[in-house]
Amino acid sequence: MAGRIGGDEFVVLAIDIDSKEEAIQWAERLHTGLTTPWHDEGKTITPRLSMGIALTADPEISVDELLRRSDLAMYSAKASPTASVALFDPQLDEQVKRESLIRCRLQTVLEADQLCVDYQPIVDLVNGSMIGFEALARFPAEEGVSILPSEFIPVAENTGLIYRVSDKVLNRCLEKLSGLGAGRQAMSISINVSPLQLSQEGLATKIIKMAEKLHVPLSYLVLEVTESPLIDRPQNAMRELALLRDCGCRVYLDDFGTGYSSMSWLAQLPIDGIKIDRSFVTGLLTDPRSSLLVATMVRLARDLELDVIAEGVEEEAQVDALLAMGCTKGQGYLFGPPAPFPERFSFSNPRCAAVPASSTSSSAGRPPPARARDSTKSDHS
Ligand code: C2E
Ligand code: MG
Ligand code: MG
Repeated sequence: MAGRIGGDEFVVLAIDIDSKEEAIQWAERLHTGLTTPWHDEGKTITPRLSMGIALTADPEISVDELLRRSDLAMYSAKASPTASVALFDPQLDEQVKRESLIRCRLQTVLEADQLCVDYQPIVDLVNGSMIGFEALARFPAEEGVSILPSEFIPVAENTGLIYRVSDKVLNRCLEKLSGLGAGRQAMSISINVSPLQLSQEGLATKIIKMAEKLHVPLSYLVLEVTESPLIDRPQNAMRELALLRDCGCRVYLDDFGTGYSSMSWLAQLPIDGIKIDRSFVTGLLTDPRSSLLVATMVRLARDLELDVIAEGVEEEAQVDALLAMGCTKGQGYLFGPPAPFPERFSFSNPRCAAVPASSTSSSAGRPPPARARDSTKSDHS
């Protein structure tokens, strides 16, 4: 029995289904039939749909519960890049509970103005001097609970809380840059811009106004964007980024190599550089394919006159390999983990710019992580 239960939502009730396999086969047949392209007034229409299946042998189960389960399964099919049919799994319930806990915590943290920001150095690989930081949002440490960005950023994206997260991070970064005064010369802070932000009008105006308020020139700000918003909503994203670049902001394509970039498309983007994803840098010394891919990405960027930063640099030998390929900027645990903003820096000697002023060490080259962290008084705002 088939029925329509909402705008574009339909339910099919099937009885006498004996196994998961049979239910999936049944749903896939239905899916194939419904997604066959058809023609209307000279246009070809190709419907897309996601299906969630809830199976039960319990005659007492309520209709609401069965619909709730199939709804969860449908959202999991929707979120999957490959599957269009999904079966309800009790783990989905756990996932929903965890997401709703994170959403509540995030709301509380934002309301109490307790969101933290860590800063990770970005380094000139040639001489080890620090050229900037990437700002990374952090949940305040709570006893027994650790919520990583890989968990709370997607929840913030799905619930729209990402706007408030981004505003807080941007404001903190502008305050840091403003506080550094003349000391901020030759450095920048990079912030991650979420796909949702880029799909909305007015992002550029908002950032420009916030920077003006704190008297920070936009040339100190770098925006890290991912490919998806540039593919999905190109016009708006392109316009906002172009506006920001006109005002001096730089734009980097984050996690480069993990998306679908084509060469011709890359050349058209309003960007200043790329950040090679950590997954490629990790295999640089051990996997010939990773090494070939990194070398190709560096060459491509340089040919397109784009800057290149390697993410996830953890070993000295990776630095040597990157330099040999022509990549002169890097970020990773080798130079320092994300950490609270150091209170004071010495900018006088570019070869040890990442070393806090309070440090006694003045050796040139690449500072190990502990140096940036241990000897530095820092705040976590
Ligand atoms: P991302 O922008 O690619 O940031 C780099 C991630 O790699 C960070 O993870 C950083 O801690 C980690 N990382 C850096 N160096 C190394 C290394 O040498 N080895 C290893 N194993 N990891 C390294 P984190 O902080 O967990 O952030 C994950 C992602 O969450 C970020 O990836 C970014 O996409 C997102 N994110 C974080 N903060 C924000 C934010 O304020 N706004 C938005 N929209 N996204 C954010
Ligand atoms: Mg980033
Ligand atoms: Mg990245």
